[in-house]
Amino acid sequence: MIRVHVLLLVSGFLVSSFTLSQTEELIWPGGRPMAVSLSYDDALNSQLDYAIPALDAYNLKASFYVLSNSPVMNDRMGEWRAASERGHELGNHSVYHPCSASLPNREWVAAHHDLDRYSIEQIVEEVTTANTFLKAVDGKTERTFTAPCGEVSVAGDNYLNEIREDFIAIKGQGVESGFSIVWNPTEVTGEQLIDYIKSVPAGVSLINIIFHGVGGDYLSVSSKAHSKLLNFLVSNSKIYYVDSFVNIMKYKNKLDRDSD
Ligand SMILES: [Zn+2]
Repeated sequence: MIRVHVLLLVSGFLVSSFTLSQTEELIWPGGRPMAVSLSYDDALNSQLDYAIPALDAYNLKASFYVLSNSPVMNDRMGEWRAASERGHELGNHSVYHPCSASLPNREWVAAHHDLDRYSIEQIVEEVTTANTFLKAVDGKTERTFTAPCGEVSVAGDNYLNEIREDFIAIKGQGVESGFSIVWNPTEVTGEQLIDYIKSVPAGVSLINIIFHGVGGDYLSVSSKAHSKLLNFLVSNSKIYYVDSFVNIMKYKNKLDRDSD
């Protein structure tokens, strides 16, 4: 086993110092060497208008980390439910999207959604409530979680341990071991998205790409760039296993259990 000490910074998602271990590479369904989880955060109109129709056209499944209090959730509930029925995951991204207001460029964080003012009990209760809401929308009891702003520290403690049992997996899991990588692309071309997929470090078995707006809204990627990526993934479907994060991680968890 080769161990390398690395300082990780992934578009503000996670910042940590960790030990990268070269692990045995995992084989995904169909004998494929690489899994790709496409995910879309914050329940945005452009995801329903552009991202989901494109995914459906290519018959690819993805995960949508929605917010229970989003007006787009309320206004377009039937469309989110229908997307779930077609195999997309409605993932948990909390109710109110609390983030730390003390970080730079966080003027948009409302005082009552400031993670710096939360207690562990409060965030755990909020995430649990979002699970109840999502179960009411899609009837499902298995899903995954993406922490708002990728921030997991509340009152000096990591709250993920308190909610881990409630989820099949949590976004960012496996980054420290070198099993997975996470990227939040914005304003990139289709070629840049494809180059990222093609140039992952050795040992990586899961690529997570986290989108926000697609062809609109904020932190966006154009519809053209997004479709170009989907086309590349489908054209190389002997290599890339693309599925919802919940399905990818259920498969991985089963392999881990079987090898114990
Ligand atoms: Zn978010």
